[in-house]
Amino acid sequence: MTETNQTEQFTFQAEIKELLTLLSHSLYQNREITIRELVSNASDALDKMRFQLVANGDTDENETLEIAITPDEEVKTLTIADTGVGMTRDELVKNLGTIAHSGSKEFLSKLSQEKQPDVSLIGQFGVGFYSAFMLADTVEVLTRSFSEDSGWCWESEGTGQFTIEPRAGLERGTQIVLHLKEEATEFSRPERLQHILQTYSTFVAHPIKLDGEQVNTQPPIWVEPKSHLKEEQYHEFYKYLTHGTGGEKPRWYLHLASETPFEFKSILFCPESNFEKLGFGKIDHGLYLCAKRILVQNDCDKLLPEYLRFLYGLVDSADLPLNVSREALQDNTVFMKIRKVITKKALDHLTDMQAEQTQDYHAFYQEFGSILREGISSDFGNRDRLSKLLLFPSAKSENESGLTSLTEYCNRMAEDQEQIYFLSGQSKERLERNPHLEAFRKQDLEVLLLVDPVNEIVLSQLEKFDGKEIVSIDSADVKLPDSSSDDSASDDKDDKESVPAGFEALLEFFEKALDGRVAEVRQSDRLTESPCCLVNKDGKMSTQLQKVLSMQHEGFPMAERILELNPQAPLIQRLSTLVSNEQNHQFISNCASTLLDQALLQEGISPDDDDMPQRVLSMMQELADGKTSIVT
Ligand code: ADP
Repeated sequence: MTETNQTEQFTFQAEIKELLTLLSHSLYQNREITIRELVSNASDALDKMRFQLVANGDTDENETLEIAITPDEEVKTLTIADTGVGMTRDELVKNLGTIAHSGSKEFLSKLSQEKQPDVSLIGQFGVGFYSAFMLADTVEVLTRSFSEDSGWCWESEGTGQFTIEPRAGLERGTQIVLHLKEEATEFSRPERLQHILQTYSTFVAHPIKLDGEQVNTQPPIWVEPKSHLKEEQYHEFYKYLTHGTGGEKPRWYLHLASETPFEFKSILFCPESNFEKLGFGKIDHGLYLCAKRILVQNDCDKLLPEYLRFLYGLVDSADLPLNVSREALQDNTVFMKIRKVITKKALDHLTDMQAEQTQDYHAFYQEFGSILREGISSDFGNRDRLSKLLLFPSAKSENESGLTSLTEYCNRMAEDQEQIYFLSGQSKERLERNPHLEAFRKQDLEVLLLVDPVNEIVLSQLEKFDGKEIVSIDSADVKLPDSSSDDSASDDKDDKESVPAGFEALLEFFEKALDGRVAEVRQSDRLTESPCCLVNKDGKMSTQLQKVLSMQHEGFPMAERILELNPQAPLIQRLSTLVSNEQNHQFISNCASTLLDQALLQEGISPDDDDMPQRVLSMMQELADGKTSIVT
C-alpha cells in the first residue's frame, strides 16, 4: 500500500524533452490550437468510452459522455475535463512522456527548419498533448481509468521531469488543468474560449460545455438532406475535418447518400492545395469513419484508393459494425462496397467537372494530377475512366492551362494518323529545339511535350488509348502519316527525288566510321532542317526516361540508338558529294563523330568518345589557318 502512495518521478524521453523546450520557450502564433488538441483528445477518450459501453452491451441512456471546460480568471487556470476512458498509471507513463511517438521527431525538424513555424500541424504528428506547455507553466492531468476504482495525478512543469502519484476521489475520465503562463492568461477568459471552441470544435460529436453551457449545438451535417444545408455549413465542416490546415473552403465537395443495398452517408472534400507538392511527405490523413454517427476511426485510409488520398471527408453507415478492428474492416463486405461506391462517385464527379467546368478541372488537375495518375497502375478496374481524366501538356491545347486530354488529342488527329505522339525532355525550351519535332511541325502533327518523366511512365503503362498506340517520337517505331505511302503529296515526291547522289555511300561510310557507337545509320524522314538525329532502336522508352532511370539505377542499360541523316540538309548533301573521293575520308569521318557527339549533346547525354575536344579544336585550327584537306 505504502508503495502506491508514493510520488514517482520520471524523466521525459529525449525527443519529447526537446519538443517541450521548443514549445514552452517560443512565442508561437496560433496558440489557440492547444485548446483544439486537448478537446480532440477528450473527444477521442469519449469515443473510446462509448465504444466500450456499446461493446459491453451497456446502453444506459443516462451515461454522461461530455467535455467540460472551466476557466478560472482569478487563479489563472483552465481545466478541460472529460468523462472518457481515462488512463491507468501505466498508460500515463507511456502516453504522456516516456515513449516518443514517431511523429515527434518529424515535427521537431519541421519546426526547426521553418522561419515561421506553424505549430497548428502538431496534431497531425501525434504529439498534440504537449502543446499544453505553450499556454501553461505547470500542467496537471487528473485521471481515472474506466477499468480502475482509483485515479492518478500526473504533473509537470514541462522541463525534464514529470511525477505521478495516486489520487483518491476522482470520477471516471480525465481533467487537464493548465496553470496559465502570465502571457497566456487570455485563455481563462470565457469569451475568448467560446470563440476558439466555435472555430475548431463545432462538430465534435460530444457535448462541450463552457462553464456549464453547451457551445457545440450544431447537428452533424452529413445526416441532413443536401437541400437543408448552406454552403457555409459545408465550409465549417471542412475546416473542422482539416483542423483548419486546408484553408477557408474546399476546392469542391460531394455529399452522398444511399439507402440501398446498404445505408451510408458521406461528404468528401477536395482541398485547395496538395500538401505533397509542398514537401510534406505522403498524405495519410484518411477519412472519418462512423457507424450510426459514432466515430469508429478518424484516419481510415482504406476507404478510398490511394490515388484519391488527398480527399478529406467522412463516411457514416448504419450497416457497419462498431466494434471491429482496423484489419477486420477490410474484410467487411459493406466496407468494401462503400469504398467502391465512393470511388466511383468521386470519379463521376471528376468526369462531369472535366466536361462541364473544364477550367476548374484543369486547375484541379494541375494541383492533384500527380496523385490521381497513380491510379493508372493501381486501379485496373477504373483504368479506362482514369485514362480519360489524364491531362498532358501540348502546344495544341485549347485550354489556357496548356494541357490536353487524350480524348481531345484524338479528336484533333488527322484521319490517317495512327499513333499518339509524345516527346520527353528536360525543359520546355529544350523540347522545342529538339530536331525530332521538325517533320511533325511541318505536317502540323500534335506532339505531347512532357517534362515530368512520370507522365511518360503513365503513358507507357497505358500503351494505347482509344485503340491508338502511344509512342515517343524519338523511337524507331514512330509512324508518320503518309510517310510510307507511295501516292503521297507531290512535295514529298520531290523530297524523295532530291536524295543526293552519293547519299547511300555516305550512309555506309558513316556506319563504318561510327561502328560500335550506334546500331545503324539510316535515312531520316522526320527531319526537315537538322542534319541528323538519334532514335531509339527498341521503341517504347524515350531517351529522357532512360536517362532518369539510369540516374536512379546504376548500370541501367541505355537502349541502342540509330543515327538518322537528313538528305535535305545542305551539310549532308555536300558530304554525299565529297565521299566519292578517298582523300576526303578523314574529314568526313571527323564530321561523322562530331555530328554524333552533337546529337548526343542535344539529348542531354555526354558523348561517349574522348577525342571530341581535340577533334573539334583541330578542325577549327585548320579553318582559322585557311587550310583545307578537302578535295572537290
Ligand atoms: P495523439 O492524441 O495524437 O495520440 P497526444 O500527444 O495528444 O497524441 O496524446 C497522447 C496519448 O495520450 C493519446 O493517444 C491518448 O492515449 C492519451 N490521452 C491524451 N489525452 C487523453 C484524455 N483526455 N483521455 C484519455 N487519454 C488521453
